[in-house]
Amino acid sequence: ASRSGRRFISTPSLTKMLLRWFLAVLPLFLSSLSTHSFVHNPKVLMKRGMRNLSGDLAAARDSGSTGNEGMLNPLLSTVEVSKTIEIHAMTKSMEARGEAVVSLCVGEPDFPPPAEVVEATVQALREGHTRYTAVTGDAALRQAICKDLEKRKGVRYAAEEIIVGNGAKQEVYQAVLALCRPGDEVIIPAPYWPSYPEIVKLAGATPIILETTASSGFLLDPEALSQAVTPQTRMFIFCNPSNPTGAVHPPELVDALGDVLKRRHAKHVWALSDEIYERIIYDTPHKSLAAVPGLRDRVLLINGFSKAYAMTGYRLGYLAGPSPVIKGCTTLQSQITSCASSIAQKAGIAALQLPATTMAPSVEIMRKKRDRVMSALGQIPRVACSVPQGAFYVLPDVSWYYHKKTPEGQIIRDGHELCMYLLKEYKVALVPGESFGAPTTIRISYATSEADLDIALTRLAECLASLT
Ligand code: PMP
Repeated sequence: ASRSGRRFISTPSLTKMLLRWFLAVLPLFLSSLSTHSFVHNPKVLMKRGMRNLSGDLAAARDSGSTGNEGMLNPLLSTVEVSKTIEIHAMTKSMEARGEAVVSLCVGEPDFPPPAEVVEATVQALREGHTRYTAVTGDAALRQAICKDLEKRKGVRYAAEEIIVGNGAKQEVYQAVLALCRPGDEVIIPAPYWPSYPEIVKLAGATPIILETTASSGFLLDPEALSQAVTPQTRMFIFCNPSNPTGAVHPPELVDALGDVLKRRHAKHVWALSDEIYERIIYDTPHKSLAAVPGLRDRVLLINGFSKAYAMTGYRLGYLAGPSPVIKGCTTLQSQITSCASSIAQKAGIAALQLPATTMAPSVEIMRKKRDRVMSALGQIPRVACSVPQGAFYVLPDVSWYYHKKTPEGQIIRDGHELCMYLLKEYKVALVPGESFGAPTTIRISYATSEADLDIALTRLAECLASLT
């Protein structure tokens, strides 16, 4: 092996090669005699291997094993399969049977992208912007992102400090992979977006979950953050506004969290600030963690177009951060996806050229929906809920109803069972809080029609009232 990690194979002498070949073939020849098949042809060898494999699979089936355990990268066994997938799969099969399910599971806005964005998409195609762009993204888009960040967030970046990718999720993944090593700790406040701990585990690092409570509006206590920092802490992931709580940390709290990271015992910690919901806010203003004086060079600012402009299917997001990290992420991205869609990138430029107020009417509609949901939840006895200040999720605590019995005699033990019951009997799909590290809760996404919200919340109230 070389220092670059590549392996070089030296050329052996002819005698050595013949000897190796003889030693390799001898056992096959002997075993072929016992199975009365004559093996000298690589194709036959392959077939034999396949026969053995199918035999193994049949045996595995008989023993109740899937046979896949040893087949996949062991890393996968550390990654949890989302509980949401089960609810989602059930919802889909119910819909396929013709049952009408009201789903409040979705994590995307229910409004279309601005007309100018759609127009720019079509124009990009017509003008032939259909080729690979630079790995880090279209230069004009990166410039537009820099301008936008400076204008709205007060943080200055050079174009070399921006990488555009296929959605914010890819940028989170690359940033974690670029910086975190096995043995590193990554602080993740709970309730969390389910991908964070799984991405951290995929990098071989250890998620350290820092609980927040509904009674404090799911806001992070700076002293709790300070105490969670150890010499092994590599990164702190901060999702503001938060999916799934809708909490928005007020600017002075963002400053206080930033001050903790500037303390001597935390100077080695990187902050990944996921600000993808920063345009969907109601009463509390949003401050970027990168705007905390003296912190910018340790912040990895994640943002994108999915939530702000309802462009989820365009798959467009970005990371702003110090050039060495951007370079590391560029290396990763160059070997994973090459670049984001050239067409989506042109649409992204058009989105950033729109006045900042463009999405205000859509945000106002979201606020009304939030208020509608909050007032409906307020009518349900023993459901506790903090008022979300951003994004489009509510995370009510429904744990008072756990261990109660349904009219059919089933004991509802947790949020997952409650969501499954609600789906089967009341045709309402919600996500259990276990997925977000908040097992006493269920997540409601109110990015849907008011009519559906009313139906779903009435049924939720009926369902909970039926439990005794
Ligand atoms: N971060 C958070 C907190 C999210 O909720 C999501 C989307 N659900 C993402 C990142 C990823 O967004 P994108 O569509 O840009 O990959």
